[in-house]
Amino acid sequence: MAIPPTYTQATLSYKPPPSLADRLSILNQQIRDAEQRFGRTAGSVRLLAVGKTQGTALLRILASLGQKDFGENYLQEARVKIAALKDMCLCWHYIGRIQSNKTAELATQFGWIHSVDRLKIAQRLSEQRPQNIKPLNICLQINLDKETSKSGISISQAPKLATEIAGLPHLRLRGLMAIPKPQADFEVQRQQFSRLRHILEDLNSSGLHLDTLSMGMTDDMEAAIAEGATIIRIGTALFGPRQG
Ligand SMILES: *Cc1c(COP(=O)(O)O)cnc(C)c1O
Repeated sequence: MAIPPTYTQATLSYKPPPSLADRLSILNQQIRDAEQRFGRTAGSVRLLAVGKTQGTALLRILASLGQKDFGENYLQEARVKIAALKDMCLCWHYIGRIQSNKTAELATQFGWIHSVDRLKIAQRLSEQRPQNIKPLNICLQINLDKETSKSGISISQAPKLATEIAGLPHLRLRGLMAIPKPQADFEVQRQQFSRLRHILEDLNSSGLHLDTLSMGMTDDMEAAIAEGATIIRIGTALFGPRQG
């Protein structure tokens, strides 16, 4: 049977798009390579899969491939996914803006909150954290460039707020989070992340014991790993560009 020539050509040149499984394994390999290249301990960088706007089915696929840490920006979305994936024993991280009337739900549903920037919020989270589960892991969000569009405290506010939060009973202050301005140049990306690392080092030399730098997204994860990121937050490299 004669096959039309155009069909043959299309068949020969067709490459299937990478599956979610391919993307996850490529990403994990990139992380391991970057750890090695920048002298980081193997396995010291944790991948947080940022699932905003993605459906539960995709998250379940990632979970079944061994991905454990999931990040969400919107409580309304997160609530549905957390309930639907209860059977998978995942660790949920909240990385979005915090409204003070939502702290009770945050305190019960999540293992980590990366976006704390007010003492009042931290106090509520501490009071509302159920006492039969582990303390809630907290990162302070730092607004490195004082961008009005972003949450986060300024660098100068960090020592006081960190010390206050470290004293709250049902929280465990783990470190710092930032979303620096997008920069194309690798060295400029590194400089931004190095600022966050220095703030963490200063807090530790004044007596705190922080072990977490939540920094680096799809376009700057390697620079973040070079500067000591322990959690990178990745959406696009896993799921492709977000719609809308
Ligand atoms: C969306 C988002 C990410 C992931 O960004 P990508 O560029 O898609 O990897 C990370 N952190 C925060 C706070 C986000 O809102």
